[in-house]
Amino acid sequence: MKIVFATNNQHKLEEIRSILGDKYEVVSLKEIGCHEDIPETGKTLEENALQKAQYVYDHYHVSCFADDTGLEVDALNGAPGVYSARYASLEHLDTSDTLEHDSEANMARLLRELGNNNNRKARFRTVIALIEKKDVCPCGCTSIKKVSQFEGIVEGDIIREKRGGEGFGYDPIFQPQGYDKTFAELGADIKNKISHRARATQKLADYLKTL
Ligand code: IMP
Repeated sequence: MKIVFATNNQHKLEEIRSILGDKYEVVSLKEIGCHEDIPETGKTLEENALQKAQYVYDHYHVSCFADDTGLEVDALNGAPGVYSARYASLEHLDTSDTLEHDSEANMARLLRELGNNNNRKARFRTVIALIEKKDVCPCGCTSIKKVSQFEGIVEGDIIREKRGGEGFGYDPIFQPQGYDKTFAELGADIKNKISHRARATQKLADYLKTL
């Protein structure tokens, strides 16, 4: 079965392909000729994931899924959450373009906002939205869609100073529960087994295998 993943992120594609195995042909946006910047204007991870999947479904009429991830810090009322990629840019609107996806600036802001707060509890949360195209007529002229969502969470703490050189994003300041190393110190093999994205992806894979 062919299914479109609304991403061009090679790392995410390889991760999902290895979990899903041969039964599914997971194709990227580039591979279906979609080069647009798909809007992500939702106020929640759920809205953003669905918005991206819906865009692909509406324009390409295929079964597809999309993901969105955020880091939720308890002492900051869940921030940066859905704004994780743009956290630093949101306070420097004059230079926001250059700061978007700037991990160093994002981590610096997060550590500053948390200050000496002893409540360091946080979690990464990934939401995957899946839209299945189900043909009512075998020739494909009439179809219905089915929407499902899958969530993956990893709990942990925000440490006070960055540690480790692997991974990306907030990895150097996030220490998953039960470990004394950050994601950036644990490395890809361990991270990919316990991460938010791996857990959400595994739920998607379990569901797809039942079809
Ligand atoms: P996305 O939805 O996967 O693009 O993630 C949004 C933002 O969350 C990224 O730009 C990163 O700042 C952060 N993020 C997502 N996943 C991770 C992760 O596994 N480690 C560290 N940061 C992450």
